Amino acid sequence: MSNLRLLSRILRLKELKITGFEFKRRDQELHLAVKPYKNGCRCPKCERRCPIIRQASQCRAWEDITILGMRTIVWYAPKEIECPTHGRIQEHIPWAGAYSRITYRLEFRICALCQIMTQKAAATILRMPGSTLSDLLHRIINRVRCGHKIRGLVTLGVDEISYCKGRKFATIVYDLERACVVWVGKGKGRQSIDRFFQEALSDGQRKRVRWASCDMSRAYIQAIKDHCPNATLVIDRFHIVKALNEAVDEVRKQQWRQLGPEGRKVIKGLRWLLGMHSRNRTKGHTRLLNRLRHSNRRIHRAWVLKDEFEHFWNFRYPTAAKRFLQHWMTTALKSRIPSLREFVGTLRNHFDNIITFIKRPLTNAVAEGINRIIKIVKNRASGFRTLDSFSDLILLSVGDLDIPAQIPTKLRIL
Ligand SMILES: [Zn+2]
Repeated sequence: MSNLRLLSRILRLKELKITGFEFKRRDQELHLAVKPYKNGCRCPKCERRCPIIRQASQCRAWEDITILGMRTIVWYAPKEIECPTHGRIQEHIPWAGAYSRITYRLEFRICALCQIMTQKAAATILRMPGSTLSDLLHRIINRVRCGHKIRGLVTLGVDEISYCKGRKFATIVYDLERACVVWVGKGKGRQSIDRFFQEALSDGQRKRVRWASCDMSRAYIQAIKDHCPNATLVIDRFHIVKALNEAVDEVRKQQWRQLGPEGRKVIKGLRWLLGMHSRNRTKGHTRLLNRLRHSNRRIHRAWVLKDEFEHFWNFRYPTAAKRFLQHWMTTALKSRIPSLREFVGTLRNHFDNIITFIKRPLTNAVAEGINRIIKIVKNRASGFRTLDSFSDLILLSVGDLDIPAQIPTKLRIL
């Protein structure tokens, strides 16, 4: 076996032939002179073999994956060809995308590594600066997602998320059935969501949306009503529970402010216990809360109401659920707790859209699961400065398109 063939076998190069090699920079870099397998000269658009017009004079370099810690760079001078249909054009390069400076293999490795670790760690492994990595990643994702159309969106969810240490916001649209993110846009509120409906969906697609879930903000509700005439709106369960928990916590805070040191001792450490779902409580926890009946009536009352509200999610018939909710609202109003009365006001505003949950329990466990991944992505990067780098990673980890799978490489080496 000749040296070149051995090298080609070891490096597992599939789409190209090695014509020469050289070690540079004290064996830190391996430079390979290559040419496309079967001599190339194919049109990038129609794959037809075409006559050469000009042998290119300039050699181009593509960075390949590092092998045993050694950077590998492949060199080739692309030819200019004349295609009968597409005219004068540069020949098809089988190992890399057009205008790309890195090979498909490296692109695949970048995507696969960024899915499972921080960009910083990936940059260390790939031996490149972090800024270069995020730049390359952005280009890959842009290229792969360019022209990608959202398909079969029937159940959508809208939510907003903060980045850049909570100072900037992005609007995220989910496909709740397939459990993935279909769109990420800058800003929050009406303008952002309008952009989604106008840019990403056609008229027909908007009409095919049957279910939509969002928080209780007027902007999103109105936008969904305007753009998706056939959609039934379901208020996101997660946001309702969150609002209720906040209302209960407000009672605790208010009591804390009013009470002296003696009274404070009783309600100390209750915060997370009050927010806990009854399913997760131990007997000891329940005993602790029951003791409040004598020591702090107000918090006890708020807690009992909160616990009762949990039953709402288990109803199977809308009429019964409606009756239950109305009854609960009356009881909550009678409690004369201001924050709970406020919560009842919110419920009343969205009453119909909350009851729809019983007809179609849009399990936001899906969106919550996605949100958890997004949170991990966020923590990994410890605060993004630009939306681009944030949305790149969201689309890479939980997007509707499997990005590494779209990279046309024959060997997927990690
Ligand atoms: Zn052609």
